[in-house]
Amino acid sequence: MPEPLPREADANDIVNKKKKYIKATFLNGATTHAEETVYLEGWKDVGLRFHIQPCERTIGTSLTWNNWRIRGINRKRGHKRCDGKTIRGWHQHVWKNQCGDKWVESLAERLFGSPPDPQKIIQVSLDRWNIKPIGAIGEQLPINFLQRGGENGTTS
Ligand SMILES: [Zn+2]
Repeated sequence: MPEPLPREADANDIVNKKKKYIKATFLNGATTHAEETVYLEGWKDVGLRFHIQPCERTIGTSLTWNNWRIRGINRKRGHKRCDGKTIRGWHQHVWKNQCGDKWVESLAERLFGSPPDPQKIIQVSLDRWNIKPIGAIGEQLPINFLQRGGENGTTS
């Protein structure tokens, strides 16, 4: 049984108004795709997960709630939005009642550098989604972070 669809207002609330935490060590040791629990205060697990999709073609991050992608940051040559408009380059997915995770908003390329810096992608995501890393973010990036390979539906 799939989880019920999140409501846009609830998704916005949990992204913007709730303080959230993630173990900073998630940066270390990941291979092609890393997924970490995002906790509310008191280490409460309410089904939030932060995903890093490392491969170059689909590089990006996402925040899922009970397996629904309520936020995502990634890059595409052309992203057909549910209102028919095409969004190019870096963008953020924002959960909407009418189109689920298919609503995207442009983001400036300079936020991420060229070639994109994985640390910046992660930092921008954590900042925008109100997630605080607990502990020091390691120097070491996930292995293969910028290499091709691996495929995951949560970031494209
Ligand atoms: Zn996208």
